[in-house]
Amino acid sequence: MKTEIIGIQSPPARNSRPNYGRASNVRVNNGRANNDRATAKKKGADPAQLYSKAVEHYAMYFDRPEARLRFLNNTRTKQVERQAHLQHSLRRFRFIKNTRLYAWLLEARCYSAIIEELRAMAPSLPKNRRNLAQQIQAPFSARLFFLIHQSRHAFYGATVIVAGLMLFGLYSLVSWSASRISDLVARNKRAPIFVVPAGTTPSDPATTIPTKYLPYKPETIWKVGTEGEYEKWSNGCRISTKYETDNHPRGYYTIPRDSDTAGNQFSDKIVGIVYHTPESGMLSFTPDNNEAIQKKSRLLLEYVRDHKSYNYMIDRYGEIYRIVRDEHAADHAGHSIWADAKNFYVSLNESFLGVCFESRFEGAESLDEILTPAQINSGRLLTDVLRTEYTIDDADCTTHGLVAVDNEKMLIARHHDWVRNFPFEAMGLSDKYKIQPPSMIDYGFTYNEDVLAKLGNKLWEGALAAEVEFNSRAEKARVSPDILRQKLRERYNSQCAKTRALRAGPGEANNPQLAEKPVGAGGPTESGNN
Ligand SMILES: [Zn+2]
Repeated sequence: MKTEIIGIQSPPARNSRPNYGRASNVRVNNGRANNDRATAKKKGADPAQLYSKAVEHYAMYFDRPEARLRFLNNTRTKQVERQAHLQHSLRRFRFIKNTRLYAWLLEARCYSAIIEELRAMAPSLPKNRRNLAQQIQAPFSARLFFLIHQSRHAFYGATVIVAGLMLFGLYSLVSWSASRISDLVARNKRAPIFVVPAGTTPSDPATTIPTKYLPYKPETIWKVGTEGEYEKWSNGCRISTKYETDNHPRGYYTIPRDSDTAGNQFSDKIVGIVYHTPESGMLSFTPDNNEAIQKKSRLLLEYVRDHKSYNYMIDRYGEIYRIVRDEHAADHAGHSIWADAKNFYVSLNESFLGVCFESRFEGAESLDEILTPAQINSGRLLTDVLRTEYTIDDADCTTHGLVAVDNEKMLIARHHDWVRNFPFEAMGLSDKYKIQPPSMIDYGFTYNEDVLAKLGNKLWEGALAAEVEFNSRAEKARVSPDILRQKLRERYNSQCAKTRALRAGPGEANNPQLAEKPVGAGGPTESGNN
C-alpha cells in the first residue's frame, strides 16, 4: 500500500520508484539505492533527483508514518540547504558544476544528511533496524565526508594547535633573528676589536725553542745546594732567598669539572703558575742607569715582601727572588678563575704560585719593551724548576690578565697584566691566548666597552671565541645568557666563600683585595687595580 507523503515533491525520475509499500513488507535491501544511483549515473540523471529517491528509500524503514514523514522532511531540508550552500560556495567556480567533482560533493553531502538523520532518529526505528545507519552502503566519499564532518571539532583543534606551533616557531625565529641583528648592530657600533697574537720572543737564539718541543715537559731538575742567600738548581737556575717571607699555609677545595658542588675535597697542593708584572716605573735599561735600576728593584722587593704580593720576582737583570715561600699562598691573584681538564680553580692565591717580572706592561707595544732577555731566560729556568718540583701541568701555567675577574660586574680582565704579549713559547709553554677562558665559558664572565677601552680594543683570540661559545651554551640550555650568567655568578661566589672561609680571619695581609691595592706615592701598582 502506497503511503502518501505530504509536503514532499515526488521525485520526477520514474525509472526506479522505490517501494512505497508498508514498512513491514520492506526488506532491508541496501543494494537497491546503489543500483538506482548507478543507473542514474549512466543516464546522466540530475544527482539531486537521484538522491531524493535514496532518501525516500530509507524513509520506508520507519514503520510509523509520522516518523517517516519527519525523516523525509528533515533529510530533504538538509539536502536542499546543503545543495544551496554548495552552489553558493562554488559560485566563483561554476565550471565545477559540469564535472564529476560536483556530483561527488553533492553525493557526499546528501548521504551524510541521510546517515545523520538515521542516527538521530534511530529510537523511532523498529528495534531490529536501529543500526540501519551503519548498514547503509553509502559511497566511500559520503562516509569520508561524514567522518570529517563528525570529527571537525577535533580537526579544528588540531588545526589551531598546528597554527599555534607554526606561529610560535615564526615568533622564535623572528626574535632569534632580532637578537642576532641587535648583536650585530651592537658589534658594528663598537670600535673594531683586534685579536692579538701571543708574545713574540726576542730574537735571542739562547731563548728560542723550536715549536715542535712545545709544550715542554721538564726533565728531572733538583736543588744542588744552598750557598749563603742563594739556592742553586741543576738546570742553572739560581734563586735568592734574601727577601723570603711567610704568609699563610695554602688551603682550598678542589672543584671537579663534573660536579656542581662548591668544592668537595680540601687541598694544599700547588697546581699552577700565574705570571704578573707589578707595573713599577721603568728606567732605561742601560749601563749608566745601573745604580738607579738596582735601587728601584730593592724598593720593589721590599714592597712585595711586606705585602706578600708574589711567590717569586725576577728583576731586570734576571735575578730570581723567592718572596712568599712556596707552601704559603701569596696575595697575587685576587678574584680569579682558571681550569684544567680535571678541575676548576677560584681564588688562585691558594692553589697557584705567583711569578712576577719586574716590568711595566701598560703602554708597551711589544715584548722587547717589557722584558729583558735576561728576564726571559730566568723566567724559563724558574718555570722549569717549579714545574718539575710540583708536577705542574702546562695547562695550568697562565697569566694574571687571563684569570682576573671583577665578580661584582661579572667582567673579565680586572687586572690586565699580560692580557697579551706574554712569551709562553719562550717559557716552554703552549699559547694560553688561544684557550677560551674558563671564566667566560664556564662562569659567564664577559667584557664590555670599558674593559675593551682599557685593553685598547685588543682582545685575545680565546676571549672572542668564548663569548660566542657562552651564548651558544645558553641557547642550548634554553635560557638567556644573562640569566645563565646570574646563576653561574652565584656558583662562583659560593665557591669563593667556601675557600675563603678556610682562613681564620680577614686580616689585612690575608685579604687579597686589600693586598692588591696600590702602595703610596711612587709605589708599584698592578694594572687595573683601581
Ligand atoms: Zn698581576
